[in-house]
Amino acid sequence: MNKLKNYINGAWTASDEKNTIDVINPATQEVMAKVPYGSDTSEDLALAADTADTAFQSWSQVPVMQRVQPLYKLKFLLEENLEDLAKTITMECGKTLAESRGELQRAIENVEVACGMPVMMQSEFSENIASGIDEFMIRQPLGVCASISPFNFPGMIPFWFLPYAIAAGNTFIIKPSEKVPLTMDKVFRLIEQLNLPKGVISLVHGGKETVDAILDHPKIKAISFVGSTKVAKYIYARGAANGKRVQAQGGAKNPIVILPDADIEMSTQIITDSTFGCAGQRCLAASNIITVGDNNGSIKESLYESAKKRTTGNGMDETIEMGPVITQESKERVSYLIDQGLNEGGKLLLDGRNANIPGVEKGNFIRPTIIENLPLDGALLKTEIFGPVMSLIQLNTIDDALQFVNNGSYGNMACIFTSSGANARKFRSLANAGNIGINIGVAAPMAQFPFSGWKDSFFGDLHGQGRHAVEFFTQTKVVIERWPKEWSRKF
Ligand code: NAD
Repeated sequence: MNKLKNYINGAWTASDEKNTIDVINPATQEVMAKVPYGSDTSEDLALAADTADTAFQSWSQVPVMQRVQPLYKLKFLLEENLEDLAKTITMECGKTLAESRGELQRAIENVEVACGMPVMMQSEFSENIASGIDEFMIRQPLGVCASISPFNFPGMIPFWFLPYAIAAGNTFIIKPSEKVPLTMDKVFRLIEQLNLPKGVISLVHGGKETVDAILDHPKIKAISFVGSTKVAKYIYARGAANGKRVQAQGGAKNPIVILPDADIEMSTQIITDSTFGCAGQRCLAASNIITVGDNNGSIKESLYESAKKRTTGNGMDETIEMGPVITQESKERVSYLIDQGLNEGGKLLLDGRNANIPGVEKGNFIRPTIIENLPLDGALLKTEIFGPVMSLIQLNTIDDALQFVNNGSYGNMACIFTSSGANARKFRSLANAGNIGINIGVAAPMAQFPFSGWKDSFFGDLHGQGRHAVEFFTQTKVVIERWPKEWSRKF
């Protein structure tokens, strides 16, 4: 069985770690590889950090125009190998091939935006702030930076950070999720072809031990984390206590509000895609669907019909619309949460448990599930499910809906479906979430905008992507200089 290697100092290196865990295809339960997982992975990380620090001394001095050249090549390599990478994502993560291709497209867009670093890093200059004195601000890289990723976007999330970090002159270490390490293994086969100086980009596998080693290593200056809120809080606290710059994106519980004047057909398609796409395992998946007004019968019927006919199966089959959840444990957790909702008084409109898919009977499948009548102050409407479950809520006014949205502890996304500009504007302005959708179901910012989670969905200040990434991966230096007047050129 293939035991995955790290990529450190420009070479594939066997991990010191003796223990491994299996990388399992969630649709078939096939063991695809073994990944290092245990206490010795901290030694692998230390080696990566030391060599990345050495590489930083020269990489940071390479002119920015030269530093972005490998990114152009990387874009073409990612495009050329998109189908192969998409298959790997689908096999280890479970999502459909179309979803895997979409994810990679998002990764490539971040590479494209980061190619603008020569302009984005430009300094600001003020001449003659006082007679004969000039002042300017330059941006310089930080040093060794590291990212820690979740399982649900193995091809995209490292790219919210990597291209910006290296274009700005940092060196970078990627720690993928131990559940889906194969995609980055493949991406690094492409990174190898860039002929970057040794140590500029490294890959280190592992779980909590590798993460703790990142949090404590003195040569790592900045950490970009994406994952659950519990771990994000831990990363933020321990990383900051060690003097590091930290951006930590957490979990979510995303509401969508449907006003009576919404276009039912359009809303139905978009909202079911948002809830059940990627089997509900998206940090921007809709979860709580709030219908406003007392006549919600037709939208409810329409959502039910759309959810019921969504096909579920192995993501490798181009005809299916929804794959499995990531592990058996996740499947059990989602079933447990549905039971919890029923115990709170919820009523199942559509029950996706006990899915038995011919040909992939052992897969972690749950079909689309819809539950209604849940109490507004109950646990299920507040808990991130991370599975294909829609909760239907009926409220009287847009103000009631806003109050419900803003009472939640998360703030990753909030959306509204309406044909009223005034109501859309009110929602956009008053909803306490960092990513807002107006007649949009997955309000994922394009690469030139920051991925703006709020509240328990984000700990830190600067988010991933776009200009926030430029600021996160650079530190400013302000220079004031005086030159004697007699040295000035005389006209
Ligand atoms: P997770 O928090 O379990 O794992 C994320 C990473 O943290 C992994 O690399 C893992 O190895 C590491 N890790 C796990 N437990 C740890 C611990 N105790 N100490 C140190 N490190 C630890 O998350 P997941 O299950 O892989 O991903 C799903 C979660 O990620 C969901 O909550 C989802 O909402 C969130 N997510 C958020 C965003 C966002 O942008 N806000 C994007 C994608 C996913």
